[in-house]
Amino acid sequence: MSNFYIVATPIGNMGDITLRAIETLKNVDLILCEDTRQTKKLLDKYNINKLTMSYPSDDVAEKNSRQSNKLDKIFAFLEEGKDLALVSDAGTPGISDPGAMLVSKIKERFDLSPSPSPNLGEGGRRPGEVNVIPIPGPSAVITALSASGLPTHEFTFLGFLPHKKGRETLFKEIALAKRTFAFYESPHRILKTLESLVKFCPEKKVCLARELTKIYEEFKTGSPREVLEYLEKNKEKQRGEFTVIVS
Ligand code: SAM
Repeated sequence: MSNFYIVATPIGNMGDITLRAIETLKNVDLILCEDTRQTKKLLDKYNINKLTMSYPSDDVAEKNSRQSNKLDKIFAFLEEGKDLALVSDAGTPGISDPGAMLVSKIKERFDLSPSPSPNLGEGGRRPGEVNVIPIPGPSAVITALSASGLPTHEFTFLGFLPHKKGRETLFKEIALAKRTFAFYESPHRILKTLESLVKFCPEKKVCLARELTKIYEEFKTGSPREVLEYLEKNKEKQRGEFTVIVS
C-alpha cells in the first residue's frame, strides 16, 4: 500500500504550514513539485532534504511525451509501494493550480472510485494499492474570504476569470446573483477587472485582498469605483498577488 499526499504549503508567510505537512514532507520518498526551485526554499527552511521532481502540468500532460513519461514514473513509484507528496508553489495543490489532473489520473489508474463499491474495500479501494490523502492548509481564496467581512455562507469560486470568451456574461451573472463571488487576479489585469466591475456591477461591494500573509498584506473594501480609484491613486498597490471578493 502506498500513500499519495496532497500537501498545502504557505501562500506567503513561511510559518503557515501545519505540523502534519512538515511530518509528511519529511517522511515521503519523493516530493512532486510545480517548480522544484520554489519548493526548495520551503524545504530548506524546515531542513527537509528530500528527492523532488516536477510533475506534469494539467494541460500539457496528454500531448507531451516527456510529461507522460513523468506520469508513468509516478505510477511506477506508487506501484513499488513508495509514498509521494504533491505540492504546488503556494497554497493548496489543484486549486487553480496544476495537480487536479494528476490526482484524477491516479484515482483512475488505481481504481479509487469516488463512491464505495460493494466488491472493493473502503471508498472503493483495492487493498494493497494507493491511498490519496489530503493534508489541508492555506489557500488564498479561503484566507481572503475569512477576513473580507463580506457574507461567506454561500459563495462561488471562479478561479481566474476568462480573458475574452464569456467574460462579459460572467460579470452580468455576478451583478444579478445574491451570493458572494471569489476569484484570483493577476497584477497586470487587476485594473481592467475593476473597470469591468464598475461597468457591470456598480452596486456591489468589493474586497481586494492583496499580498495575504505577507509584509504588505492589505484588505481594501468599497464599491468597485472606490477600490478602482484607490488603486489608480496608489500605483504601488497595483503590484503583488490579488484575491478579489465581490458581494
Ligand atoms: N493553489 C493556490 C491556493 O490554494 O491559494 C492558488 C494558486 S493560483 C496559481 C495563484 C493566485 O492565487 C495568484 O495569482 C493570486 O491571485 C492568488 N494568491 C496566491 N497567493 C496570494 C496571496 N498571498 N495574496 C492574495 N492572493 C494570492
